[in-house]
Amino acid sequence: MIQLIRGFKDILPGEVELWQEIERVSRDLFENFGFREIRIPIMEKTDLFARSIGEHTDIVEKEMYTFPDRKGDLITLRPEATASVVRAYVQHKMYAADPVRKFYTIGPMFRRERPQKGRYRQFYQINAEVIGVDSPYIDAQLIFLLATLLDRLKVTDVAAHINSLGCPECRPAFRKALSGLLDAKKAQLCADCNRRSSTNPLRVLDCKVPGCREAMAEAPSLLDYLCDGCRAHFDSVQQSLKRLGVPFVIDKQLVRGLDYYTRTTFEIQTGALGAQSAVAGGGRYDGLVKMLDGPNTPAIGFAIGFDRLAEIVGLRQADFEKAPQLFIAALGDASAEKAFDWICRLGLEGVTAEMDMAGRSLKSQMKQADRSGAGFVLILGESELASGTAIMRNMRTRAQTDVALDDRIIDRILAHIRPYSN
Ligand code: ATP
Ligand code: MG
Repeated sequence: MIQLIRGFKDILPGEVELWQEIERVSRDLFENFGFREIRIPIMEKTDLFARSIGEHTDIVEKEMYTFPDRKGDLITLRPEATASVVRAYVQHKMYAADPVRKFYTIGPMFRRERPQKGRYRQFYQINAEVIGVDSPYIDAQLIFLLATLLDRLKVTDVAAHINSLGCPECRPAFRKALSGLLDAKKAQLCADCNRRSSTNPLRVLDCKVPGCREAMAEAPSLLDYLCDGCRAHFDSVQQSLKRLGVPFVIDKQLVRGLDYYTRTTFEIQTGALGAQSAVAGGGRYDGLVKMLDGPNTPAIGFAIGFDRLAEIVGLRQADFEKAPQLFIAALGDASAEKAFDWICRLGLEGVTAEMDMAGRSLKSQMKQADRSGAGFVLILGESELASGTAIMRNMRTRAQTDVALDDRIIDRILAHIRPYSN
């Protein structure tokens, strides 16, 4: 038997209804707030990610699915969406008509990480990106949106962590102070962090290895190094969140793994997923549009881990279970022929109707109807066909009614079923 690739998964009917509901609630919310959907390709030139995410990040160094296509050009299965959204914004000169654009996109991402609960090699994200606004209002609005979405999906046990990463003006002084500490703590840091110390020192703050966490407890806070502009921006975000009633904690250890982030950065964390605590992450990336050859344009966005979200939503699978409304138990060829025509016509009326297509006995058809959870069963044997009256059984109440088999049969069936459907 050929099985799926390690770290990949199927989302089967039964679970997929939950995914559809999450998607529906997300789309509704985004559209209410003026976001438009954008669909971007699943593969891009490797350069796009190498340049935007940064060479010295976990993603680019060890997680990307990169391979030469048949002509030898290097292509990569997208590990995230932001780079592609910005590429599209620049490539289609979307800034020309109106530099302010709000996008959302939902789809699969690919990272070759060690598979475990909440961590897959193909996983899904719900992304929102706002390009062209530098006001701290938009930072607060995005965090508000995230909080609202989680609330609507009945997620509990989550907290919004926020931090500021400063800007190219104020970050160098912080980097220097941090590098001093990293040199002093060399012996305590893991091999990865010792490498990061020279290539990407901020990432050490994000390391999950306990020894590194301990060493970094004394790390300086970027918040003490913010320039006046970054400080005012961060204060304003906090004030807006307070006015909107969104709870948050300031988390000076919070950094993002991607190089292009500036100023406000945030993460939604949960205690419900063990080691995989991040449900969503985001922040400002004011440098990225320019880095990808567009005009100097501020931007901010977030990515929700769909798989992790699906594991913690408070919605119950049972709320979405779909059973047929009607099962027609037909005996004999003539009855089956009628039943078949009717289930097709009922489908057009928006009624889900099923029948047996394997010529089973009445008894086993009734069992089948029961198992399917159908609300009604229409019993149609040869004698019913001959007498022109069939029996409609309400499977909840077990009440039985006669239904005349005339040319208004579809209307008669609908009249029975509709009062019970929601
Ligand atoms: P982590 O620290 O858990 O590796 P990350 O910082 O790499 O997360 P981001 O790049 O910020 O994650 O992606 C946003 C969200 O996507 C994460 O908060 C998480 O919920 C989800 N995510 C990231 N990687 C995976 C994965 N391999 N499998 C499932 N979800 C993931
Ligand atoms: Mg990661």
